[in-house]
Amino acid sequence: MTNQPDVIVVGAGVMGCGTAYWLSKAGYKILVLEQEAIACGASGMAAAMLEAVGHGAQLSTHDPLTAFARAGFHLHADRLPLIGAVPGWPGVYMVAGHFRSGMLLSTISTRCIADLVIDGKSSVPLDVFDPARFTPGPS
Ligand SMILES: Cc1cc2nc3c(=O)[nH]c(=O)nc-3n(C[C@H](O)[C@H](O)[C@H](O)COP(=O)(O)OP(=O)(O)OC[C@H]3O[C@@H](n4cnc5c(N)ncnc54)[C@H](O)[C@@H]3O)c2cc1C
Repeated sequence: MTNQPDVIVVGAGVMGCGTAYWLSKAGYKILVLEQEAIACGASGMAAAMLEAVGHGAQLSTHDPLTAFARAGFHLHADRLPLIGAVPGWPGVYMVAGHFRSGMLLSTISTRCIADLVIDGKSSVPLDVFDPARFTPGPS
């Protein structure tokens, strides 16, 4: 019997805690490293609304910020989270970039990360969320 963790999770927000939850349910020994305190970041501030926002949908047509916000919104890379293996770091996975829908997406996102750690594949296709999509390819 050893006290060595099977998996180290960095960050005790909803993503880190959710990942730790799913993995420990599957019998893995988890060590969560947090620089400050549990849910001290965005997770501790969230209103926990379970709806997808941030796509301009909740802004009214007459809101003077609508066009401005929509223009800016399209500048956010592809606006999709990063879920999967970190390129060049074997055994390291990331689940981040959920914008304002992190609470809504936390259960499935963290479940998918747990799947990757346990089985090396996820039951839900993650190709579009692969962190490697931002890795520069050969030019
Ligand atoms: C005001 C506000 C309201 C929101 N309302 C909603 C809502 O209603 N519905 C919704 O779905 N989403 C909402 N969100 C978004 C949601 O809260 C976030 O998407 C989600 O909490 C992100 O979770 P996270 O675990 O990725 O990040 P965080 O909760 O920020 O956790 C990251 C953790 O990692 C730690 N950390 C960072 N670097 C290191 C390191 N090097 N070593 C150790 N620890 C480290 C930090 O200290 C922090 O605790 C809201 C966000 C805000 C700010």
